[in-house]
Formats: sequence, C-alpha cells, structure tokens
Amino acid sequence: MVHLSHTKVKALLAMKPESQEVTVKGWVRTKRGNKNVAFIALNDGSVIHNIQVVANPELFSEDLMKNITTGACLRITGSLVESIGSGQPVEIQAREIELFGAADPNTFPLQKKGHSMEFLRDIAHLRPRTNTFGAVLRVRHAMAFAVHKYFNDHGFFYLHTPVITGSDAEGAGEMFHVTTFDLKNPPRTPEGEIDYSLDFFARQTNLTVSGQLEGELGAMALGEIYTFGPTFRAENSNTPRHLAEFWMIEPEMAFYEIRDNMDLAEDFVKYLVKYALDNCADDLAFFNQMYDNELVERLKFVVENDFIRMSYTDAVEILMKSEQKWEFPVSWGSDLQAEHERYLVEKHFKKPVILTDYPKKIKAFYMYQNEDDLTVRGMDVLFPKIGEIIGGSQREHRLEKLEQRIREMGIPEKDLWWYLDTRRFGTAPHAGFGLGFERLILFVTGMGNIRDVIPFPRTPRNAEF
Ligand code: ATP
Ligand code: MN
Repeated sequence: MVHLSHTKVKALLAMKPESQEVTVKGWVRTKRGNKNVAFIALNDGSVIHNIQVVANPELFSEDLMKNITTGACLRITGSLVESIGSGQPVEIQAREIELFGAADPNTFPLQKKGHSMEFLRDIAHLRPRTNTFGAVLRVRHAMAFAVHKYFNDHGFFYLHTPVITGSDAEGAGEMFHVTTFDLKNPPRTPEGEIDYSLDFFARQTNLTVSGQLEGELGAMALGEIYTFGPTFRAENSNTPRHLAEFWMIEPEMAFYEIRDNMDLAEDFVKYLVKYALDNCADDLAFFNQMYDNELVERLKFVVENDFIRMSYTDAVEILMKSEQKWEFPVSWGSDLQAEHERYLVEKHFKKPVILTDYPKKIKAFYMYQNEDDLTVRGMDVLFPKIGEIIGGSQREHRLEKLEQRIREMGIPEKDLWWYLDTRRFGTAPHAGFGLGFERLILFVTGMGNIRDVIPFPRTPRNAEF
C-alpha cells in the first residue's frame, strides 16, 4: 500500500467538510479574485471537476501569488470547508502553497477555454490538460478496462498476437514495411529486386493490419480468445473515422457460428456502453452538455434495444428503393459506403444494424462460403454517427473450400501454410470479429473526429509527438 501525503480531487469532493487538514496537488485551471482574496480552480486529472482553493494573498508572498497562473502546478495544504459559493460542495482554505512549476502566461498555449480541436491537435502534448481530453482519456481507460473485464468474466483468454508480421495475405489494407535496410542502398538480387533474404528477418515484414489469423490459431487451442492491440494501415484516407495506427479488439471463438458471433458482438458492445453509462457519468454529462445533447439518450437507446439483423441483399434492396441521392450508387455486389450504412442506421431503422451474408467478391478469403456460391458469412455492425464499428465473420474451416478461394483470389498460398494447418489438423467451425477501439470511443463520447479520441494520432503526414 502506498501512503501518499496528498488526496485526489475526486476523493476530496466526496468528503464531508469538517475543517480537517488536507493536501492536494494539481494544475491551475483558472485564478480570479482581487487584492483581498484569490480563488484558484485546481484540477489533478482524477475527475472532470476542479476543486476550489481560497487563498488570502496577505498570507503568501507577492512573487508566489504572481506565479499562480493557468497551467502552473501547485501543492496546497489547508482545511476542507463547506463551500458557500454555488457549484461545488467543498473548498480548501489555503494555509500553505508550494509552487512546483510555473507556466508563463505569455507562452503557455492553453489559456482561455474554447480552443479549436485543430489547434489542440497541434499541441497534443498539452491537450490532456483540457477538460475535453481529460474526459476522453478517462473514458478511454474505462473502456479498455471493461473490454478485459468482459472477456475475463466470460472465460476468454487474452492472446498477444505479433505486431510485426510476415504475412501480407490478409488484404485488409496497405501495409507499413518493417526493414533495417539502408533505404538508399538496399541489397539487390541478380534480377535487380530488393533482396529481402538479407534483411533482419530474412523475409519481407510488415506492421500488422489485424491479429485475426494468429487469433484463429489461439482459438483452435484455447477455445475463446481475444486480442487487443495496435493495428496499422497505410491507407491514405483522410477521414474522421480512419487512423494509420489504431487499436483493435478481436475475439475469436471455436464452435461459434455466425449467429453466435452476432449475439456476442451485440452483447459485448451493449456491455461496454452500459459500463460507460454506469462508470463515467460525470465525463459523459460533460460531453452531453458541451458537444452532443443527445449523447446519453443515444447510449441508453443502444443498450436497451435489439439491433436489427438483416442480409446485405435485403439492405441493398432498401437502399435502391430509397429516394436518397447517393454520391456512390448502390447495386447488388457493390461495397457499402459510409453514406449507405448511415442511411440504414440513422434514417431507415433508427437503430444499430448487423448486416450479414455479403457478396464473396467484396470480402476477404477466409469467410465461410454459403451454399449459394455467391455470398459469405461476413457481418458488419453499423452504428449511428459512426457507420461500421465492427467487422467480422464465421471463418471458412473446410480446407478444400478455403484453398479454392485462396487460388481464385491469387493469394500466395505458401505464405499461409501455418494458417492452413489449422484446417488440416482438427479443424472446427469458428468465428470472430474486430471492433475498432477508437470507433467505440467516438461513439461513447460523441466526439466528431477520430484524431480526438486517441492521445497521439497517427494520420497521413502527421506523426508528431
Ligand atoms: P472501413 O470500411 O470503415 O475502412 P474496414 O472494413 O477496412 O473499415 P476491418 O478490416 O473490417 O475494417 O476492421 C475491423 C474494424 O476496425 C472496423 O470495423 C473498424 O471499427 C476498425 N477500423 C478499420 N480500419 C480503421 C482505421 N483505419 N482507423 C480506425 N479504425 C479502423
Ligand atoms: Mn470491415
């Protein structure tokens, strides 16, 4: 047990004020007042609220008082008393103030409220000190914890899949290469190609786009596993929903078929949203007030209502019948765009939707092939304001079918020998999905841009910090 000499703001705000001596440490959000009294709002990140410190300037040096400005870090010791002003239950009457670090008002960039999100992205090293990013990061933590709790409580094992992979067969997106070659002068084969046999891993390697293939190996031994780690896609899409580095949660379950997979996805997401409602109430109230008045209502709606389940084919029929003007036209066989997904969720059903049985031509090689020879047992979960939040499928566990699809799609089969071994030795029906962690955080916080729900976003042309 660590016995600290200070108490967190969160705990102080819940204490009964009896003029007891307390110590708090944190950063100044604002200071106001006059010659006779100073009111300092102090925040330590434990909770969205500040604690008010009341200081009599006569008790402290002029120099110290001058240095108490927005952004400065302080220790305050004093007595906890009932607050007369409205807005907070308790305040601290300061007896001692120690200045850990000043923040020059002429150069500290976070002064008044109301900075634009774009400006805050340029100072991503300081933006956690704003109310908004403090709240985002606390919610992000709570959701990560809830992910592990849900799976642990349901008998799933956390499997660590590699970040560096040798397979480029997944086809989920463009990859970042991993090499130790001198890019100015890489070794070449007699034919003039780059000779990866001389590279660090003696082969071409990439940052992973998904832990699924390795996850399937785990499920074929442990039954139910999940991964939760960083994922990389070098897609040059500058959208509010794509990052080049994002975190993905990928459960993979032996003996699950597509219906079980849908049941799990729905139960899991509802659990996470409910966990946020139950455990992040202050931060959600802040988002609801500042950014999105319908947020809490929307979250409750998702928890309380069944998701719509329908086939891709039926969804395309709805889209083709609608009077909507599309940027991308829809017809059977085309990939659904965000505008189509959001129409179904926000206008047509006004509920989350799970679509299944997509055309095999637009889905990955590993999805279970239906009898019709046209569709596969893929599933996407579509959410209001987000579009696709989950993508998954029942996997093709029949060796011949899988090999046939790999050949049809021109995927180098020899790189996948280990993956195909699961189908050679004790194959079993199984299924899984991937939930984009940042898309979940977007939904739960109501924030509008995925760059603002991860501490240090990686996007095209941006890897500062
Ligand atoms: P999209 O069509 O939205 O680009 P996708 O179909 O390429 O997504 P999948 O390969 O199915 O995505 O990945 C599973 C999940 O990972 C998605 O449902 C989404 O939540 C998340 N995801 C995918 N790409 C990104 C990205 N670039 N940034 C953040 N999250 C992503
Ligand atoms: Mn997808």
